[in-house]
Amino acid sequence: MQELDPNMKLAELHVHLGSSVDPATMWEIAHLQGIRLPTKDYWAFVDLITVNPSRIKSFEEYLKLFTWTDLIQSSPIAVERAVYQTIAGAYRKNNITQLELRFNPMKRNRNGEQDLDHIMMAAIRGLDRASIEYPVRAGLIVCLDRTFTYRQNQILVEKALKYSSRGIVGIDIAGPAKEGFRYSDYKELYAKARGGGLGLTVHAGEDDDYRSVVEVINSLEPDRIGHGVRIVHDEGTMDLVRENKVTLEICPSSNLNTHVVKDLDEMKWIFERIRSKGIKYTINTDGPEMLMTHLRNEMHLLLNSNILTKDELAKANEQAFASSFLK
Ligand SMILES: [Zn+2]
Repeated sequence: MQELDPNMKLAELHVHLGSSVDPATMWEIAHLQGIRLPTKDYWAFVDLITVNPSRIKSFEEYLKLFTWTDLIQSSPIAVERAVYQTIAGAYRKNNITQLELRFNPMKRNRNGEQDLDHIMMAAIRGLDRASIEYPVRAGLIVCLDRTFTYRQNQILVEKALKYSSRGIVGIDIAGPAKEGFRYSDYKELYAKARGGGLGLTVHAGEDDDYRSVVEVINSLEPDRIGHGVRIVHDEGTMDLVRENKVTLEICPSSNLNTHVVKDLDEMKWIFERIRSKGIKYTINTDGPEMLMTHLRNEMHLLLNSNILTKDELAKANEQAFASSFLK
């Protein structure tokens, strides 16, 4: 077993709030707010909000786990606590000193029952508190959603811009696929976000094929792509990613658990293809607690499966610092 230097400072760019808070804290937050859970048993609750490889059969099933975590995090108190816990925990457990945390505030305001600005401010407060207590630089990314209306996503971009001087560093598009959704519809909104100084990333080339990455790069001109692993199936798309200097946010365990990547052999092949083209990439967890992993664990998985060397992992980590939206 090879090990990385435990003192190495890490940066992580792709982490969802809904999958990053440890189950014990989620349990406490749920009870604090009197949320009626489908179980009164703590261990059954852990099962409910974490990935069990024998139960998760598809990408859609994975996304369903967020139904509970998003609901539990749906109040200013819960959001503040969740953001604080994630950043503090990342530092304590993994020596992550630079972290970008993404979330969709509109999935945390109980369908408009709670004021979106309060949710945004609560997230910022959680970030500020963690940054005072630990030597961490952290930023928030606002996630738009593929199932939302254009108007809803437009409001999210407006909120991201409104709080860009307070710790919101970028925008993303996430969520399950929806019939009729087109990335290209968001061309103007993305340009507006860039004009306002926000970093741009988009989930693509994960559950959908490499063509989604082509559409995203041509219409949204992102700095980074969330996942993007499916580009390896097309030479032209790989060239496009490299020529546009787009950084991939690769999340190994997430892709294995959602069956986006079949096994470690396929993962090895994906990294070989990406490396051979000189495409920039970073290593991420997607959501450490839900996926029962953490960043150092992901790096050790790649190291001990002979997918990446220590030097390549160190380089991917440097790339994460370099491609961060935190200036
Ligand atoms: Zn993601």
